[in-house]
Amino acid sequence: MTEPRLTRRTLIGGATAAAAGAAAGPADAAKRRRRPARRRPRQADVVVVGAGFAGLAAAAEVVRAGRSVVVLEARDRVGGRVLNHPIGGGDVVEIGGQWAGPTQDRLLALARELGVETYDTYNTGDNVYFRNGSISRYASTGPLGPVPPDPTGAPEAFLAIQRLNEMALTVPRDAPWAAERALEWDGQTFETWKQANTHTDGGRFLLDLGIEAVWAAEPRDVSLLHVLFYIHSAGNETTPGTFDRLINTAGGAQEKRFVGGSQRIALALAKRLGRRVVLRTPVRRVHHDGRWVRVVSDRLTVDARSAIVAVPPAVTGAIRFEPVLLPMRAQLLQRFPMGTVIKCMAFYDRPFWREEGLTGQATSDTGPCRITFDNTPPGGSPGVLLGFIEGEEARHWSTRHGDERQRAVIESFTRYFGDRAARPRNYLEMRWAEEEYTRGCYGGFTPPGVLTSYGRELRRPHGRVHWAGTETAEIWNGYMEGALRSGERAAREARADL
Ligand code: FAD
Repeated sequence: MTEPRLTRRTLIGGATAAAAGAAAGPADAAKRRRRPARRRPRQADVVVVGAGFAGLAAAAEVVRAGRSVVVLEARDRVGGRVLNHPIGGGDVVEIGGQWAGPTQDRLLALARELGVETYDTYNTGDNVYFRNGSISRYASTGPLGPVPPDPTGAPEAFLAIQRLNEMALTVPRDAPWAAERALEWDGQTFETWKQANTHTDGGRFLLDLGIEAVWAAEPRDVSLLHVLFYIHSAGNETTPGTFDRLINTAGGAQEKRFVGGSQRIALALAKRLGRRVVLRTPVRRVHHDGRWVRVVSDRLTVDARSAIVAVPPAVTGAIRFEPVLLPMRAQLLQRFPMGTVIKCMAFYDRPFWREEGLTGQATSDTGPCRITFDNTPPGGSPGVLLGFIEGEEARHWSTRHGDERQRAVIESFTRYFGDRAARPRNYLEMRWAEEEYTRGCYGGFTPPGVLTSYGRELRRPHGRVHWAGTETAEIWNGYMEGALRSGERAAREARADL
């Protein structure tokens, strides 16, 4: 195997952003700190905190109802966990959320309405399977979906997934805590269930990989009830979700990509909202009484009749509420961790793996990247290999030096796609756990005991403060689709305050 070469690279994460801020000089930093909050508060019917998909959808819904709205966004951009990165020649890659799939009806309809077209994720040919030091190939499509070449493990994982799908059907999407076996299922991790219900190394390995790929967490981190809710949630009003839909490319959540990148949807929504969206305004305090809500950010204060907080639960705790949050809500926020993921991409002149009949998708037991995809732009060049470092691998690799991590990622790609992968012309990575206003990804999940004890608080308003964000969604929880739906729901609640 050729020794991987370190190339020009871009590493993105909180530390990098902080370093860039420091480059502006201490005087600038002091000026920023001294800038006084504007004296006269702005007024609106509804104030929205956060301009991710949820906050933007909420604001659009308020405007549609003929009401006024102001959106306060901490960052200098909209889109939250969805972020395009230009790679030259007018092309972009997404370093946050990117794919869409069947039953994500709101997202696909909104994209159409905004003129953002979709195209199929490259899925022609064979996937790579790397296990116990040896490499093999398997078809990316088939009547049962892609079946990894493990004669005992794959059938066992397949049967386990069918059982999980059936169990998921009994978990109400609007109230998982009300499932008949909620206490039993929320009293164990997915790991416990897996140990009791599977027996082969291969089956367990495939289930582990599925959990890591969907939650960027380990099977021992996640409540079984949460997993079942999430599975059921991955569908629409008429079609219940399945685990297969979460993990598959064709027919699944990774089926489609957006021309020009998924952030175009957020940018177009924000453009429609115009000056109602205010960037660089991290909200610090939310005061409310029976009639008004006052939202205070570093630069701007907004008085409104109703507020929608559309930020991840793990980040909501950094906002001060007056009166303080009720104990059950406050404790829910303490129990809603984010997954851990580093999204890594290597750039080549062309997608050479396609010439060998490979999709660019790999399934592997060896880190740091155990899952890969072809992330080449629609024009076919440059060739882009995308690898995810997820869960425990991400916890481990996030503490390593950037050079070491880059070298290890390229080694992963070389292991699956041969020596040509060892010499990328560029490397890019995004470490989401370092982002102050996100603190991890892909989304929040609940450990055992949380949904049954605290789940009822998820969407319960705090006076005139309403909660949005993909973590509050009943349908496609954790995804862009869920974020949009949660924003629309919160906007309907807020309108009732007016
Ligand atoms: P966010 O996008 O987190 O928006 C919250 C907003 O609030 C942010 O803009 C943040 O800056 C702002 N904010 C936070 N605190 C404050 C404050 N105090 N004051 C003001 N503003 C604040 N989903 C898919 O559907 N398909 C995928 O392929 C996919 N892949 C993913 C890959 C990665 C690497 C990541 C990170 C996510 C992925 N997701 C994917 C998940 C998807 O991106 C999220 O579900 C969705 O974007 C969440 O939207 P949101 O509006 O709920 O939250």
